[in-house]
Amino acid sequence: MVRITCLGAAGSVTGSCYFVETPGGRKILVDCGLFQGGRHMEARNWENWGFDPAQIDILFLTHAHIDHSGRIPKLAKDGFTGRIITSPPTAELCNPLLLDSAHIQEMDAEWQSRKNRRQSKNDIMPLYTVEDAEACLSLFSPVERDQLIEVETGVKARLRNAGHILGSSILELWIDEGGESMKIVFSGDLGRKDQLIVQDPHEIFNADYLFLESTYGNRQHRTFEDSKSELLEAIQYSTSHNEKIMIPAFAVERTQEILYVLGEFQRQGMMPDIPIYLDSPLAIKATEIFRKNKKYYDKEAQAIVDEGFDPFDMPNLRFTLATKESIAINEKAGSAIVIAGNGMCTAGRIKHHLKHNLWRPGASLVIVGYQAGGTTGRRIVEGAKHVKVFGENVSVRAKVFTIGGFSAHADQNDLLQWAGHFETRPRVFLVHGEPAACQALGDKIKEIYNLDTHVPLWKERLILKPKEVASEVPEIREQPADVESLLLNGVIDLEKQLKALKKRIKTAAAQDKLTGDELDQLKYLQEELQTVLD
Ligand SMILES: [Zn+2]
Repeated sequence: MVRITCLGAAGSVTGSCYFVETPGGRKILVDCGLFQGGRHMEARNWENWGFDPAQIDILFLTHAHIDHSGRIPKLAKDGFTGRIITSPPTAELCNPLLLDSAHIQEMDAEWQSRKNRRQSKNDIMPLYTVEDAEACLSLFSPVERDQLIEVETGVKARLRNAGHILGSSILELWIDEGGESMKIVFSGDLGRKDQLIVQDPHEIFNADYLFLESTYGNRQHRTFEDSKSELLEAIQYSTSHNEKIMIPAFAVERTQEILYVLGEFQRQGMMPDIPIYLDSPLAIKATEIFRKNKKYYDKEAQAIVDEGFDPFDMPNLRFTLATKESIAINEKAGSAIVIAGNGMCTAGRIKHHLKHNLWRPGASLVIVGYQAGGTTGRRIVEGAKHVKVFGENVSVRAKVFTIGGFSAHADQNDLLQWAGHFETRPRVFLVHGEPAACQALGDKIKEIYNLDTHVPLWKERLILKPKEVASEVPEIREQPADVESLLLNGVIDLEKQLKALKKRIKTAAAQDKLTGDELDQLKYLQEELQTVLD
């Protein structure tokens, strides 16, 4: 049997991580992402792994997004020395993304430590450092998609295009047991049909078990064409007012999609003659990687290249790497398009642009990505009249355009269509989605295809046999997170035992008898207490 423990993106959208144990004793990991979104969720990044990282032979990485790759530096720091098998563009994109993530971890820890010092508390260590991130990069072992990978006798794998971001992959895994073969498919994050830049998701026809993402399992997106016209409308609005157009965007894929669409407007003669700034060092690095990897483009992007254009370049486009170049953008009056991170307006250079422009009537803020609850971006989308930026109350007088159609995720229809290609009847595990989205997609799959579905819980262990499944009850009591809590629990246990023994001694003294066992127990407790006190 194959055991798969769902250690992330089970009942949530972040922290993707599946621990696979083969009948031959191989230990494989599929994705190793960061938990994101609020203190409670992020605390999971610090928990015990639930396995020994040193014993993992292979990590299959579906794509570069941090919620799939962001704990790799920690995995390596904690002892993992195996191979990371992924597509070449994913390996390339992980370089700037993981270094950036490590930098954020270091800054967060430093900020928290400074706060702690003022309250005479201990310093906080970062989850991992830039040095840890640099060290894990040597473990990447890129393999082109569509090639069969012999992991060992009885275990094979293959990456297929997932059409989500550059290099994103679906994982097909074959595991033999007692002469029978079992096929498990991990969808990774799936893209939309006809998504910009990347090719459509590969259709898979057979599997015994399918782990299917459900991010938008209960939603439909608007079309690209609608979204493009809305973007053009925003540009025309602020150009006519001689003000700036701010576009907060995620560094990988969304930024390149926006550049791609702006390039299209330009070639069609629809763009006003204003400067366009890509004001994000991470997005600049990611765009360079997109430019280098032309062979992974879809037909439409390829055709632009064949006509002699770069899909991510325009005569007016400026890359502002240095901070002083970024500052200079707001020193110049007049209209301009500014694409900056981060995508939810909570950190990064976009905050400076909000401070300078959000209060200006005629300016526009174009929201092209998902805004999580509690973020500045979400508050603006929900109609806040003013928001806090760098501790200052800034009025929202710019026009806010919320454009929902640039998502790189398949929506419910896309997911159902993709799941409809299976000719075998896989058992479907709905993962990588909020519980409502997983449930809704599962119900539809059951209704339309009559397939057996299940929404695994976080830490749930699935036992996969050819065409059979059983799930162990997930551990309710969570593992002690660190040595400190281990010791604390030990002391509490000892105190309880001591109390019981004291009571026993009192009654025993009265009866003038203490058994040999009880004497041994006392001796043991004395030794234990001594170790704790030492
Ligand atoms: Zn993703």
